Amino acid sequence: MIKKALIKNIAEELEIDICRITDGSDLKKYREILKERKRSGLWPQPFTESNIDRLSKPSLHFKGLKSIIVIAINYNNSDKTNKYLSTYLSQKDYHIYLREVMEKMVAKIKAEINQDFKAKIFVDAAPFLEKALAERAGVGFIAKNSLLINPDFGSYIFLGEIFTDLEIEKDEALDLDCGECTLCLEHCEGDALTAPYQLEADKCIAYLTQKKGIIPPAERKKMGAHIWGCDSCQLICPYNKAKPINTKEELQYFDKDIEYFLKLRRKDPPEELKTTAIYWRGSRILIRNALIAAANLEKKEYFDLIKAKLADNSSLIRYYAAWSLSEIDYDKALGILKKHLAKETNEKVRAEIKRIILKHD
Ligand code: SF4
Ligand code: SF4
Repeated sequence: MIKKALIKNIAEELEIDICRITDGSDLKKYREILKERKRSGLWPQPFTESNIDRLSKPSLHFKGLKSIIVIAINYNNSDKTNKYLSTYLSQKDYHIYLREVMEKMVAKIKAEINQDFKAKIFVDAAPFLEKALAERAGVGFIAKNSLLINPDFGSYIFLGEIFTDLEIEKDEALDLDCGECTLCLEHCEGDALTAPYQLEADKCIAYLTQKKGIIPPAERKKMGAHIWGCDSCQLICPYNKAKPINTKEELQYFDKDIEYFLKLRRKDPPEELKTTAIYWRGSRILIRNALIAAANLEKKEYFDLIKAKLADNSSLIRYYAAWSLSEIDYDKALGILKKHLAKETNEKVRAEIKRIILKHD
């Protein structure tokens, strides 16, 4: 049995903020919660695995699993964030950063105990209940906003796991919860927190900003200024007040405003964007979201920039450019859109422009 202090000392050397250990047993409590949600139609949700066994049996992801080292790294950039991008957006993709840190950790453990062992690293990639494992390991508790909260760092933490066949002394879960507080439910911008611990993902703005394709008008309005993610349920949380600010160079905030995204060249995105955790969705969706934000904020100064997007090769961009122009300045947009309609070939874009024109006639 490996002493957990040995593992934690290595974590500290690598500037890992939290390191706790749990075993590889099934997540029985969460299995029951998922079954209940399935019965009430609240699960599965977008972007989630639907197989309860794969979610709640960590041993299915690693043969010979004995222990799981759960690490958490503080990403608190709440002193610098803007209204467009979630605070978790760091300059380097956190998936890559955490993976590199955990690779170093495995190498150091091997050197320290002078013994080879099997290990597999996960960062937000495997379909198991990552927050439930972290809760069982004592990294924090699952809160009413469905995020994991640590008493020292709040919910501004990235999680990563090392599955291993090493037997390591384990930690206990924390005895902590939200108490009587319901602030996040009252301030949820998307009305997605419909009950404590119950996030209806398809209503959540963070999800809407990642959703592909056409977003219905009511949901566009709900997105407000958000180009990627939403932090309202974190910003309001008392556990996040006066918490240490992240000082890691790689995890500094990717501080870009709406103009940056409206001016993105789809075929030639900047290198700095490619290293972030939002690039996987592609520039088209980021531009779409910027067009929605410009419409919601009635950004008249970008009218001409948006008008130029009616010539974009992507019908999705033309669709949102048309809508955005009409929201920013309807009278000015009307003539432009009527003229554009004569040459527009995409049926969805044509239908949207006709819908906009009909509002006037
Ligand atoms: S991210 Fe925004 S919309 Fe989603 S639950 Fe939190 S406050 Fe609500
Ligand atoms: S705002 Fe209150 S209820 Fe919501 S997660 Fe924070 S402590 Fe829990």
